[in-house]
Amino acid sequence: MKVTLLGTGCPQCHTKRYGPASLVRHGEVSVLIDCGSGVTQRLVGAGCPGGRLDAVLLTHLHSDHLVDLYQLIVSGWHQNRTVPQRIYGPKGTRAYVEGLLALWREERELRMAHERRPNLAGFTAEVVEYGEGPVVELPGLFVDAVKVEHEPIKEAYGFVFRADDGTVAAFSGDTRYCEALIEAARGADVLVHECFIHGLMKPVPGVRTQEGIDAVASYHTLSAEVGKVASEAGVGFLMLNHFVPAEFDREALAAEVAQDFAGPFAIGEDLMSYDVPTRTLTHGDAHWRLGS
Ligand SMILES: [Zn+2]
Ligand SMILES: [Zn+2]
Repeated sequence: MKVTLLGTGCPQCHTKRYGPASLVRHGEVSVLIDCGSGVTQRLVGAGCPGGRLDAVLLTHLHSDHLVDLYQLIVSGWHQNRTVPQRIYGPKGTRAYVEGLLALWREERELRMAHERRPNLAGFTAEVVEYGEGPVVELPGLFVDAVKVEHEPIKEAYGFVFRADDGTVAAFSGDTRYCEALIEAARGADVLVHECFIHGLMKPVPGVRTQEGIDAVASYHTLSAEVGKVASEAGVGFLMLNHFVPAEFDREALAAEVAQDFAGPFAIGEDLMSYDVPTRTLTHGDAHWRLGS
């Protein structure tokens, strides 16, 4: 199993950290988690165009996690996809996708008629709504959802991927410090976890207040907590993603996380990959073996 961080940013526009999205590959199977801004470009960068995906999993229906869903559907069709994009999301996803396709209906029908491509099914989507427990079973890869704490969003989930070679990868989705996630991720080979760097978020007159910052912080996991999560779950490797804010001092963050987590961890970057069975981390031309 190989995990690739496609987008490690947040709603903030940043040229190096795109919106939240991750890719899991195992054998011939490719699964996308979330559709943040720029995800289709990152999929191409990772060598897995969206047209090839076996499943798209949505953690929750916050805009930064699904804003590029329509772009994924239309670009997949242009990448010769011949079957509907399969989207797994929490309650509310079917209504969202139906509404999205309805919004674009006229444009889509004109495009289909004008471009005369034979495979119209590749320009559609099928939705499966999931709850806690099994989400999807693909060849050699099993995915379970764990309900996380992201109130006032009621339906927010993390995922645990289990591959038939015994490797396990866990994803936090968006959550505050969450016991259920720690339990679900216990002993995982890798945990991909969000990170809210609270020390950097300051009030700006007329733009954001301390009260607003505290409200956002209250449904995310703080940089001061994420090391504890990894330590309590006893994971083999921690990859941080979904940084708020997108710009920060990596050294300072690493020092904060290392106070609580003695294991190996990475400050995630877009297109950073981790090959789980060989414990190999890659980013661009750089290559690290983490050892056993
Ligand atoms: Zn969210
Ligand atoms: Zn988010």
